[in-house]
Amino acid sequence: MKVQEVVSHQKAFFKTQQTKNIKFRKMYLEKLRDIVVKNEDLLYEAIHQDFGKSKFDTFTTELSFVLNDINYYLKNLNTLSKPRSVRTNLSNQIGKSSIHPEPLGCVLVIGAWNYPYQLSLSPMIAALAAGNCCILKPSEIAEHTMKIMAKLINENFPPEYLYVYEGGVEETTELLQLKFDKIFFTGSTKVGKIVYKAAAENLTPVVLELGGKSPAIVTKDADLEVAAKRIVWGKFLNAGQTCVAPDYLLVEESIHEQFLEMVRKYITEFQYGPDSEQYTRIINQRNFQRLLKLIDPEKLYFGGNFDEGKLYIEPTLLKNINWEDDVMQEEIFGPILPVIRFKNFNLVLNSILELEKPLAAYLFTRNSEEKEAFTSKLSFGGGCINDVIMHLGNERLPFGGVGTSGIGNYHGTYGFEAFSHQKSILEKATWGEPSIKYPPYSEKKLNWIRKFL
Ligand code: NAD
Repeated sequence: MKVQEVVSHQKAFFKTQQTKNIKFRKMYLEKLRDIVVKNEDLLYEAIHQDFGKSKFDTFTTELSFVLNDINYYLKNLNTLSKPRSVRTNLSNQIGKSSIHPEPLGCVLVIGAWNYPYQLSLSPMIAALAAGNCCILKPSEIAEHTMKIMAKLINENFPPEYLYVYEGGVEETTELLQLKFDKIFFTGSTKVGKIVYKAAAENLTPVVLELGGKSPAIVTKDADLEVAAKRIVWGKFLNAGQTCVAPDYLLVEESIHEQFLEMVRKYITEFQYGPDSEQYTRIINQRNFQRLLKLIDPEKLYFGGNFDEGKLYIEPTLLKNINWEDDVMQEEIFGPILPVIRFKNFNLVLNSILELEKPLAAYLFTRNSEEKEAFTSKLSFGGGCINDVIMHLGNERLPFGGVGTSGIGNYHGTYGFEAFSHQKSILEKATWGEPSIKYPPYSEKKLNWIRKFL
């Protein structure tokens, strides 16, 4: 079946009103949970084939998120979808006001390759929980995971409700010409602009989950051991191919040498060697070659080794970096960590303010003035104080970017809202209305209205 036909079948199916039924939604969410649980081994195998991601990382950073999302919506769906009463203002008496969350219709979710299950399935689950029909287009760059998701979903779900469309640029371009009720895109800022333009043609609302250069600042007031350990974990998780990974470090001069030594110590301790089963590979040759060019031998502090056959790049630290270096011009998206040293905390915040707003930002300190300045001065999607990445794991926090790092957000309630319309209803009594609002108008009536409003 052509994808155009699937979309038109989904639109027709949505009009039957079946997806508005909460039992219907729960039945399919439970079915999806069963499919994920029963096929865990196939899912691990596919992602390992794509870029050597370990079972441990796949469970903790992908499947646990997917299962958690399903369970969250199963538990909270009744409350989330219930109409809410709000107060009615004086000029609308006698009346009742309420807000009715309703699904948007047929939505498109476009996923990225770096967390192929989480970034495709989590928005899809939110879309289904909110009562939509959905077309999912995972990233073709992670080919095996795309294929296994297509197989498991297309064999178990009716296409007029949920369908996985496999393909790359050409197929996505084809999809973007169709009219959807929402497009949820995760990927680069460059492709985000293409998606936004196409969506504008149909006035389709979008969520854009994009990237950027996320800083991590370490001041002399930080617990340096904790900072080094957490930064090394978050930066080299998935071999740095994480949208919210600390992209670069800003380290206060007085602790700079000491801190770099600690970072080196943890990299060694965590055993990210070329034969390590727990360290992910670079996704493809193109990215491998792009990353190697960013390693300036004159600035190398640690690492820099690689194995092209295995698409392996050792965790690499670059020191004495300045803002003009090549590595500081674009999101790195790999296991290379440049370090800039600074003397003045407020000036370093000003330097970050000169750049595009990042998807994440991190601060390591025990100084409350620094915490306050970081939180109130900088604009970024979301972040942590004294940790990295972990803000994503709290479904009560909205996840999304700001400025060039994205539009809109999701996770938990926010995911449900991203795929819902909040419909307002004012229900009036047919009695008890003063005739004051109706013509013929008079000064006297206007004076009364002034007093009322
Ligand atoms: P990408 O933009 O290259 O691809 C994303 C999706 O867009 C894929 O499904 C791909 O098939 C499609 N696509 C690619 N080129 C296209 C084109 N010309 N026209 C139409 N569709 C096209 O991104 P990627 O390489 O998969 O992911 C890396 C980027 O995504 C990084 O910048 C990263 O920071 C960002 N990212 C953001 C988040 C987030 O949650 N904000 C999560 C992961 C990745």
